[in-house]
Amino acid sequence: MQTRRDRTAPSRRGSAPRPPTWYHASARPFTALAPLDDAVDADVCVVGGGLTGVSAALALAERGYRVVLLEAGQIGDGASGRNGGQLVTGFSCDMRELRRHAGPAASRAMWDMGLEAMALVRSRVARHAIDCDLRRGYLFAAGTPRQRAGLAETAEDWATVYRYTGPRLLDRPDLTRLVGSDSYVAGLADPGGGQIHPLEYLRGLAGAARLAGTAMFEHSRVLAIERAGGRNCVRTAQAEVRARFVVLAGNAYLEGLHPPLHARLAPVASHVAVTPPLTPGTLRRIMPGNVAVCDWAPAPDYYRVTGDARLLFGAGARYRAGDDGGRDRFLKRRIARVFPSLDPVQLDCSWSGLIGVTRTRIPDIGRSGPDLFHAQGFSGHGVALTGLAGVLVAEAVAGTAERFDVFAALRHRPFPGGALRGPLLALAASWFRLRERLG
Ligand SMILES: Cc1cc2nc3c(=O)[nH]c(=O)nc-3n(C[C@H](O)[C@H](O)[C@H](O)COP(=O)(O)OP(=O)(O)OC[C@H]3O[C@@H](n4cnc5c(N)ncnc54)[C@H](O)[C@@H]3O)c2cc1C
Repeated sequence: MQTRRDRTAPSRRGSAPRPPTWYHASARPFTALAPLDDAVDADVCVVGGGLTGVSAALALAERGYRVVLLEAGQIGDGASGRNGGQLVTGFSCDMRELRRHAGPAASRAMWDMGLEAMALVRSRVARHAIDCDLRRGYLFAAGTPRQRAGLAETAEDWATVYRYTGPRLLDRPDLTRLVGSDSYVAGLADPGGGQIHPLEYLRGLAGAARLAGTAMFEHSRVLAIERAGGRNCVRTAQAEVRARFVVLAGNAYLEGLHPPLHARLAPVASHVAVTPPLTPGTLRRIMPGNVAVCDWAPAPDYYRVTGDARLLFGAGARYRAGDDGGRDRFLKRRIARVFPSLDPVQLDCSWSGLIGVTRTRIPDIGRSGPDLFHAQGFSGHGVALTGLAGVLVAEAVAGTAERFDVFAALRHRPFPGGALRGPLLALAASWFRLRERLG
């Protein structure tokens, strides 16, 4: 395994290209899919081969629709193949905030759908026999008394409003049974959360979608969508799909294909790295609970132990990927702060990805034109919610849009700042994080 290199960079020595992430290095082989090179007809064309697009394709194909999925690069090239693999309860937006935006009835429905999203991951993994290291157990960690108070209020809110009573607030020394770090004063242990190898999961879903009849193509970037004769025509450089319905699932990578949609997202870079495999003794000391951990800060540290005993550690938000050295230095600093005993930190591999953040941090799921659906902006909380978003889109295509409309009714405004919206948001996140650390 290469050290201190961005595996997304092409090999300069002409040897076999390096896998872009540890996920790619550790996943079972996935047969490359050919680009679309012809004009084809379909009922639905899905744009984007991440968890949202693949979930939508699977749900639609299971309903009997003829589905074509077009992915610009390879399946999982976007956030879905490079995230922290954390299965997090709820939404990126605090539920009290979400109630203010959506009202009590819609927010209740959203909470229930959030729990359904977690259950959907488990049921799809079981049903399609996807080997993706799915494990239960989650910890939100508080570094300051103020964060502890925030966690306590959240637990109280979840319990009283939604009857979600599983999480337990832990103070030291109970907390140290889950995570061996002096960085935290308290934590909220949530047995409903968990972790997963996201690329294995995505590829497993893609396999299921293809078995159900989806025609899936890689290296088929969509360049334009035109409306003609009551249908949408989805064009790549060398092919086109004529379909009544189109699903836009490009999230933070969608760029210029639909500018108004993209303007409602701030694409923010987050970085992830893995250490070499750690000894059982080290793991018992730093991660005795073997749960996924995320701190309760605006731009959080998130980490877990992989199936092959590495610490997989992510941190953000930053507004640019930066060079390999800068990213490694940044991640090493963050790891050493949480686990000083690992200093000097060794990294086997690091990479970056783009998180699509909405202004409210509520997912942006809705219609963006005639028979044109979209789902984006999971704001760092998408591993589970994307699966449900795909199901909701399939329901809407089939004409049962009640649940889809719970999300579609929310208004998502563009970010101010145009191209600077990513940097501005990252700057704000850093400022809030600094304020949190100062207590
Ligand atoms: C570093 C990082 C860590 C994260 N950690 C977590 C976590 O631990 N837990 C969690 O819940 N969430 C996490 N997230 C968020 C989560 O990964 C995303 O919400 C989720 O993967 C979004 O899936 P998606 O399918 O909507 O988008 P993506 O996975 O980004 O997929 C979009 C796809 O669309 C393709 N595309 C774009 N434009 C076109 C076009 N014109 N034509 C064809 N294809 C196109 C892209 O190539 C890409 O493959 C993280 C995100 C990042 C970046």
